[in-house]
Amino acid sequence: MGRTTASKPKVLIVEDESDLSSSLAYALRANGYDAMVADRGSVALQAIDSFQPDLILLDLMLPDMPGLEICRKVRGASSGPQPAVIILSARVQEIDRVVGFEVGADDYVTKPFSVRELMLRIEARLRTHMAVGQAGAEKTSAQEQNPVVSFTLRNLRVDEAAHRAFVDDKEIHLSALEMRVLVYLFKSPGHMRNRRELLTEVWGYHPEVASRTVDTHIKRLRDKLGTAADLLKTVRGVGFRLAAPDEQGARSSQASDDHAVDSLGSLAR
Ligand code: CA
Repeated sequence: MGRTTASKPKVLIVEDESDLSSSLAYALRANGYDAMVADRGSVALQAIDSFQPDLILLDLMLPDMPGLEICRKVRGASSGPQPAVIILSARVQEIDRVVGFEVGADDYVTKPFSVRELMLRIEARLRTHMAVGQAGAEKTSAQEQNPVVSFTLRNLRVDEAAHRAFVDDKEIHLSALEMRVLVYLFKSPGHMRNRRELLTEVWGYHPEVASRTVDTHIKRLRDKLGTAADLLKTVRGVGFRLAAPDEQGARSSQASDDHAVDSLGSLAR
């Protein structure tokens, strides 16, 4: 889709180092984005409401509050679209990456970073987000190359192109990552994947670190799914899958987490 003035993607830069934030804002505007800078957490929280960014670049070390708390607040919001979040941090310890993903960040970039690489990551993260609110609009070339998915399982309806999901016809607001988990499971044989595959394919993340990251996100996703939560099943000791179409209604209450892996082949769409 063309980036007209009206549909410029909005990026909120939450960063207290003014040299860095101003050069990021410059680079973003040069690349066709609408950029806004917040130099502390309290300003960022206000800007999230008023500016309604499509993506947040989030520094973790802010003068007034931890960046992670901002991420947690954004992901905890029960209404409104979910912006993508890319954490920018000088911290290099793996534990920070893990915590970042656990509170719902979509990506994590360690300082110092190349602005060009960051721009590529921003573009990648925004691909799904820019379809928000433009259901039925022209597809991006990226979407044409990777056919989009729209599917219905019992009372859950997912429209990947529009980045929208509905339970009982009521919209639920998923982060880009949560949407990717659902779509990835749906596209997978038997609608099932193990934790390692999810970490690698959905998170683009090295698998040794923490499979509990996946569990944390699955739990949050189930919370958001509400009455459709049981469609997202844990296959004990293996991973996760979506319920099959013929597993609806009364059968779904019988389907236990111990559902035999051997039967999954027959559940493929
Ligand atoms: Ca800082």
